[in-house]
Amino acid sequence: MTHETPSTCPYCGVGCGVLIAHDGERITGVRGDPAHPANFGRLCSKGSTLHLTASPAVIQHARLLQPMQRLQRGQAPQARGWDEAADTIATQLATLVTEHGPDAVGLYVSGQLLTEDYYVFNKLAKGLLGTNNIDTNSRLCMSSAVAGYKQTLGADAPPACYDDFNHAATVFVTGANPAWAHPILFRRLEDARRANPAQKLVVVDPRRTETAQMADLHLALNPGSDVALHHGLLHLMIREGWIDEAWIAAHTTGFDALRERVRAWTPERTAATTGLAMADIETAARWFATGGPALSLYCQGLNQSSQGTANNATLVHLHLATGQIGKPGAGPFSLTGQPNAMGGREVGGLANLLSAHRDLANPAHRAEVAALWGVDEVPATPGKTAVDMFRAAADGQIKALWIVCTNPAHSLPDQAMVRAAMERAELVIVQDAFATTATGRLADWLLPATTWGEKDGTVTNSERRISRVRPAVPAPGESRHDWAIAVDIARRLEARLRPGRPSLFDYPTPESVWVEHRESTRGRDLDITGLSYARIERDGPQQWPLPEGAATGRARLYADGRFPTVDGRARFVDVEARELAEPVDTEYPHALNTGRLRDQWHGMSRTGTLGRLFGHQPEPTLDLPPQTMQDLTLAEGTLVEVRSRRGRLVLPARADAGLQRGHAHIAMHWGDEMVGGSDGPGRAQTGVNALTVPAYCPTSKQPELKHAAISLQPADLP
Ligand code: SF4
Repeated sequence: MTHETPSTCPYCGVGCGVLIAHDGERITGVRGDPAHPANFGRLCSKGSTLHLTASPAVIQHARLLQPMQRLQRGQAPQARGWDEAADTIATQLATLVTEHGPDAVGLYVSGQLLTEDYYVFNKLAKGLLGTNNIDTNSRLCMSSAVAGYKQTLGADAPPACYDDFNHAATVFVTGANPAWAHPILFRRLEDARRANPAQKLVVVDPRRTETAQMADLHLALNPGSDVALHHGLLHLMIREGWIDEAWIAAHTTGFDALRERVRAWTPERTAATTGLAMADIETAARWFATGGPALSLYCQGLNQSSQGTANNATLVHLHLATGQIGKPGAGPFSLTGQPNAMGGREVGGLANLLSAHRDLANPAHRAEVAALWGVDEVPATPGKTAVDMFRAAADGQIKALWIVCTNPAHSLPDQAMVRAAMERAELVIVQDAFATTATGRLADWLLPATTWGEKDGTVTNSERRISRVRPAVPAPGESRHDWAIAVDIARRLEARLRPGRPSLFDYPTPESVWVEHRESTRGRDLDITGLSYARIERDGPQQWPLPEGAATGRARLYADGRFPTVDGRARFVDVEARELAEPVDTEYPHALNTGRLRDQWHGMSRTGTLGRLFGHQPEPTLDLPPQTMQDLTLAEGTLVEVRSRRGRLVLPARADAGLQRGHAHIAMHWGDEMVGGSDGPGRAQTGVNALTVPAYCPTSKQPELKHAAISLQPADLP
C-alpha cells in the first residue's frame, strides 16, 4: 500500500515542500506539496527526480552503508561495527585533545545538515571539546550575507519574503541566477511579471545568464566592481533627490560619512570602473529609487568575493537611503544556496557564532550559552573558518578533521592545499551518506549517515520559514542519523574528558534537540518559543520570529523602522571599493567565473547518480566568448589547458555568446572525475577549484570563488 509523507526538498534554499510516495520500505515517487507555501506543488528538475536518487540501485552503488576504517592511506577501507568505530574515534580524539589541546581538532560541517544535527555538532565542539574550530561549507555560500546584514541592519535576518515578488515594482537581481540556481523562485518571479507587466527587472551579472535574458535591463558589470556600482547608484540617487531624507534621519546613522564617500562616485567614474554605460546606470538608479517598492535578490555573485561583506552592505545602503525596507515588495533579500544554510546560522554552527545569532566575541553571549548548556565556559578563542581550518591542518596545527556531509576535497578553493591538509592530518573522519566523494577517498574513518527520505528534523529556507523533514523509509544498511552519530561519539568522549559528570547529550529524539535549540532563542531576534513540531504539523511551515503567544510568524521584518541595534537605527557603513584579490595580468589575462548548472547540485553526490540530469549538460566545459574562441583559433570541443597560479585543468572549449571578451566560465560541479579521474602526472587535477583563489573577505572570511586570473592554451595531452 502506498503512503505519502510530507517533507522538504534537500537541494536548494528555496525549501520546496515534497510529498514522498512509499510503501514503508521503498520510496516510489515524489511530487510537489500543493500546501507548502514555498512552492505550492511545483518542483524543478532536481526536486522532481528525488525519488530516483533513493532507488535500490543507487543505494547499493552510491551509498555508504557501514562504518569503514582505512588502516593505511591509499588502501581500501575495511568494515567495522558501530561500537568499535565510535569507541576508537572517541579514544583517538580524546588522546589528541589531551596531548595537543582542544584546538588540535577541527569540525567541518554542512548547510545540508538539519538544524538538529547542526545544534549537536556545535555543542560537541564548543561545549564538550572546548574548541571553536567548527565551521561549515555555508562559509563558502552565505557568510558575506550574514556579515552584511549584521553590519547594516544589526541582525542576520533576511527582512523580505517570497510574496514580495508580487508587490515589487522593481526587482533588482544581482550576483544570482535564480533561473538555474533557485528555479521555483524564478517561476514565481515569472508569475509576478505576468500579473504585473509594468514590473521592472534589472539583472546585474557579468554573464548573460538565463535570468539576465528575461531582464528589462541587464548590467554586465566587470568582475569585482559591485561596490563601485552600488556607490555610483547611491551617488545618482542623492544627486537627483531620490533618497528619502526624512526616513534616513528617523531610522539610520552614518549617512553623512557615506554621502561624502560616494560624492566621488560620479557616473563617469562608475561607468569606467564597472564597464557599464552611464545611461544604464542612471536607468537602474531611477527604477530602484522612484518606481515604487524595490526588492533586491542576491546570492553568490556578491557573497563569494574578497569584498563580500562590502558588496552586501553597499547594496543594503540603497534600500536604507530610499526607505525601501519593511514594506510589501521592498527589501534586501539574500537568497540562500543550501537547504539549511539558515538553520546552521540559527544554531550558531560557525566558528564565530553561538546559538540563536549570538556572537562568540561577546562575553555575555558566551556566558548565556555556557549556562544553557551546563558547561563551565565557552572558549573565547576564535575558531578557524573554512579555508583557515584546512591551512591549519596543512601547517600541522590541526591534527584531526571531522568532516560531515560535505566534500571539501572538491568545493574549497586551492585544492592542492586542501588535499595536502587532509594528507598531513593524523585523523580524518568523514561522515556522509555517499561513498563516492573525493573527500571520502582521503579519510581514515567513513561513517555512514542517513539522508533525504530517511532523516527527521527541521530546515529553514531563505524566507525564514521552518519546515519539517520527515522520514518515509528506514535507514539503509548500518547508516545512522547525523545527530545520533554525534551524540554517540560525544557520550563516549564525555566518559574520557569529563568522567562522572552529567551528560550534555541526553537527547532521545531529534525533537528533544530542537526543544533545547528553541529555548536558546527566547528573547532573541529569531525567537521561536511559540513554535513546536506539533504546531508545524497542525499549521504547516512557519516563519520566524514566532515568540510564545504570537498568532503567526512574521512575513516581513522592520515594518516599524526599528532595527536590532543598540540605538534601534540601521547603519550606513563607510566602506570603499577595492580591487579583486587576483586581477588579470599579462601572464594570466582571462577572468574566470564559476557557477551552477540548472540540473546539478554541488559535487553531484546525489544528482550525479541520475543519467537524465546530465541531459542538460553531459560533461564539464570551458565556456568562452566567441571572440576568445576566434582569437585562440579554437573550435567547439577543442581541449584547452586552463592554468592559474595554483593548478591546471584540461577541458573542452564551448562558445558562449553570453560571456564578455576576456571572461571564461566553468561549472562548479565536476571534481577529479573531470579528466582521467586522477591527479597523476600529465592529467588534470581536480575540478574548477584546482584554479580558484583562497583569498577571502577579511570580515566574512568567505573565499573569492567567483574570480581567478587564468591563462588558456590549446592542450597537448600525452
Ligand atoms: Fe528543490 Fe530548490 Fe528545486 Fe525547490 S527549487 S525543488 S528546493 S532544488
